[in-house]
Amino acid sequence: MNTESGRTSLLEWDRKRWKCWLHEQEASPAHATTLIQQIHRYGSLEPERMVALPLRLRHRLEHSFRATLPEIAHLRHARDGTCKCTLRLSCGQFIEMVLIPSAARTTLCISSQAGCALGCTFCHTARGGLHRNLSIDEIVAQLWLARHRLWPESAISNVVFMGMGEPLANLDAVLGTLRLFQDDHAYGLGCRRITVSTAGLVPGIERLGHSAEVSLAVSLHAPDDALRTELMPINTRYPIEKLLQACVRYAQRGLRRRRTVTIEYALLAGINDAESHAQMLARRLQGLPVKVNLIPFNPFPGSDYMPSAPEVHQNFFEALNGAGVVTTTRRARGQDIAAACGQLAGESVLREVFETQRSPLMALQGAG
Ligand code: SAH
Repeated sequence: MNTESGRTSLLEWDRKRWKCWLHEQEASPAHATTLIQQIHRYGSLEPERMVALPLRLRHRLEHSFRATLPEIAHLRHARDGTCKCTLRLSCGQFIEMVLIPSAARTTLCISSQAGCALGCTFCHTARGGLHRNLSIDEIVAQLWLARHRLWPESAISNVVFMGMGEPLANLDAVLGTLRLFQDDHAYGLGCRRITVSTAGLVPGIERLGHSAEVSLAVSLHAPDDALRTELMPINTRYPIEKLLQACVRYAQRGLRRRRTVTIEYALLAGINDAESHAQMLARRLQGLPVKVNLIPFNPFPGSDYMPSAPEVHQNFFEALNGAGVVTTTRRARGQDIAAACGQLAGESVLREVFETQRSPLMALQGAG
């Protein structure tokens, strides 16, 4: 249970947990739907206003739960419409989320941890190490704030766990969050509208596969173990072959139909972008039920890597497609505000802001 002053957050519980509580209160389990709708669909965190509930229950809610949210610390708007929001948690840590509007959909990219322990060498979040896991309510609060406070007009259609942190290293909280995201009376996001991205924690992929229906993205970034271990230390525990086997099982074990598995590959100039890398990758992925998403590397202050030149990127793309591996390229979004993949660093980004502006928070308090 996530507590703060001993109280559970109104954002924390899924339908099943609310029903238990209602049972304890000797109230009808049907109120669980009302509660979920009020809190998540309509964005109300004021029990006294939930007039569809009996007065006694409203009082109980008022006294037993908390309605506190992470504070909106900073908002930045990119030229391409991308918007990055830095949130300050009650413990003082910062996390970030990014709104990415496009013609076909509006995606919210959310964080699952404050910081990250995995140490991928090309990722800004990794630089600060792991501060802590986020609780369910802190993850849910990101979509809640996005929908009900920050961007109510933007009709967020997709959510990706590609912000700060490794979602499968905080899987209990991520699964609790998914139950709410997918509840028709809460956020009603279908399985194809949520993507969990992982650096490749094989047991986590297995468990996610048994517990949720969502799309999976796996950060591969190298076609062989020696290079991948250099870039992603987690590879020593879960090498490529085991990881790809887990991807295949994940894709094939969908409840209704095949689940989408995307292999993410950030192109780093002179490191993993040679034609031989593309060929080796194509050989490994041949015939597997996965597609590849090529990500242009997004530099950040102090990063050792460079993005591949456009023609190198194009050649890599063509080599994969030519070998029959379905490949797409992720357009970098929000680079001018450090909101693109791997550029989220929470605290250090905010520190930059503090250093360049006198009092950034004042203008942003209550930005919703
Ligand atoms: N921990 C998860 C999700 C976080 S990052 C994971 O590893 O998948 C989301 C994606 O951005 C991952 O594919 C990650 O490898 C990639 N990424 C990290 N840093 C990047 C950078 N500087 N440029 C481009 N992509 C990056």
